[in-house]
Amino acid sequence: CGIVGILGKQPVAFDIVEALRRLEYRGYDSAGVATLEAGHLERRRAEGKLRNLEARLRASPLAGHSGIGHTRWATHGAPTEDNAHPHATDRVAIVHNGIIENFRELKQELAADGVAFATQTDTEIVAHLLTRELKSGRTPADAVRATLGRLQGAFALAILFEGEDDLMIGARRGSPLAVGHGDGEMYLGSDAIALAPFTDRVTYLEDGDWVVLSRGGVQIFDAAGNRVTRPISRSLASS
Ligand code: GLU
Repeated sequence: CGIVGILGKQPVAFDIVEALRRLEYRGYDSAGVATLEAGHLERRRAEGKLRNLEARLRASPLAGHSGIGHTRWATHGAPTEDNAHPHATDRVAIVHNGIIENFRELKQELAADGVAFATQTDTEIVAHLLTRELKSGRTPADAVRATLGRLQGAFALAILFEGEDDLMIGARRGSPLAVGHGDGEMYLGSDAIALAPFTDRVTYLEDGDWVVLSRGGVQIFDAAGNRVTRPISRSLASS
């Protein structure tokens, strides 16, 4: 129900939890964080309140400078730790707000392809679709483009890629997602309020947009795959 992503200059896990706390008002049943450390994706997840996730992170820290986090309001699959986001394969970690309406047929297609599922969520199929595209040789951006074309429903997504410390991709269709512009840092959030501690320079993505972020800048594409520009505004959230 809440998404945060940070490409930062120092360990980001606790900043992500702080930002998720600003989205608590939306309600949630579990939470999780994934970071990339020396190119390797690792995640921590917990049922219940953010303090449970925080305790998990203290016991077993994540040191990565790139990370994504999520508070979940379960729609498909019980609110367990296994079903908590981020969902991951050996190639990607992904957080998702919303519902993938055609996940059953996509799941059947992936199962026929030999994919084994670790969760009951609709979200996990997105991780596997992306992984299949990456393994067929596509770049991360092309894998996202191809995968978005397969999805029906309302969603916001944030994705990290194994081996890619300076890359995060976000997408929105029917659910909100904003980009925060920092000083050599870049952010994603389902609400500018979540990003207020870090920056007040925000780009509100339009419906159907997807965005490729690095610490140095962003490339935004519309639903048709055309490169577009969207304005940077001063967020009211931090004033
Ligand atoms: N449909 C997804 C799930 O149940 C995401 C729910 C949400 O927006 O938190 O895991």
